[in-house]
Amino acid sequence: MRYVIMDLEWNGSYCRDLNGYFNEIIEIGAVKLNDKLEIIDNFHQYIKPIISRKLTNIVKNLTNIQSIDLYNGIPFYLAAEFFEKWIKYDSSIVMTWGTTDLLVMLENCRYFLGTDSIPFLNSYADLQDYCQYRLNLHDGNHLGLSKAAQILNINQDKYELHHALSDSQLSSDIFSNIYKKGTLRKFTKNAKQKEFYDRISFKNVIIKDINNSLINKDDFNFSCLNCQAQLTNINSNAWIFKGRAFRNIFKCPVCGREFDVRIQYKLTYDGLSIKKSISPKIYNPNEQNDIPISISETSSSKLNKRIYTYPDSLATSNI
Ligand SMILES: [Zn+2]
Repeated sequence: MRYVIMDLEWNGSYCRDLNGYFNEIIEIGAVKLNDKLEIIDNFHQYIKPIISRKLTNIVKNLTNIQSIDLYNGIPFYLAAEFFEKWIKYDSSIVMTWGTTDLLVMLENCRYFLGTDSIPFLNSYADLQDYCQYRLNLHDGNHLGLSKAAQILNINQDKYELHHALSDSQLSSDIFSNIYKKGTLRKFTKNAKQKEFYDRISFKNVIIKDINNSLINKDDFNFSCLNCQAQLTNINSNAWIFKGRAFRNIFKCPVCGREFDVRIQYKLTYDGLSIKKSISPKIYNPNEQNDIPISISETSSSKLNKRIYTYPDSLATSNI
């Protein structure tokens, strides 16, 4: 088994051919690990941009890439060919930190190679997703590379952030810290199927309108953290949308305690995902500024699949 951890840097610019914005890859960095998780090889390549030779200020400020590096770079098609040869084994699992790099790679393969897939990709795992699972972070926020390193007490001094090879080395450091035999399999996807690309290209949508027909009011049930009794909704018109979720205050009819309840509806590739959380009410005078949302009587689900996912601890304060 070989693991390949890839990181990219790209320059965003207007593309006349596409009549839109295009993220042109200018640097590919990657490390190859053996099954003992030791780095056995590095890959680093600058790519000569052709859509825009002018680097945006974001790229200039964030990375250390100089125009001269890119001037000496090679065309994307050649870099992709070298990279495929470098990976060598079909059984390698390619990983990136989050799917953004993968989507940018796909965008570049489509434009420069005319393919609808990434030629060197057979198996893929999202390292960020795997890391969040291993660190038990299910708060719905995306964990940054640097933050993950901090949590794991990895010294980042020797790594230069936003440098493709260095970021992939830091990612591999994180990977070898969190890896546990048998746990990566469910994160490893077959990238030779069309469904793989449909899935990574799907943009999740958070439902912000409480009157959306996909929302079923039967989901608005919560139990008291103190006595397990069914909580009652003090004011059914008091739902507010804040922090990507609907929030309200529910009261326990038995012990009288009040709770902040949160419910999030997210449309994903697999259907509607619902996340609920509850925590004891803490009174905050600033909350009076929020305008309540009223609920209408619609609750038909257009999707045949509903996924119910609950955080490990229902008492978590974030959703
Ligand atoms: Zn109670």
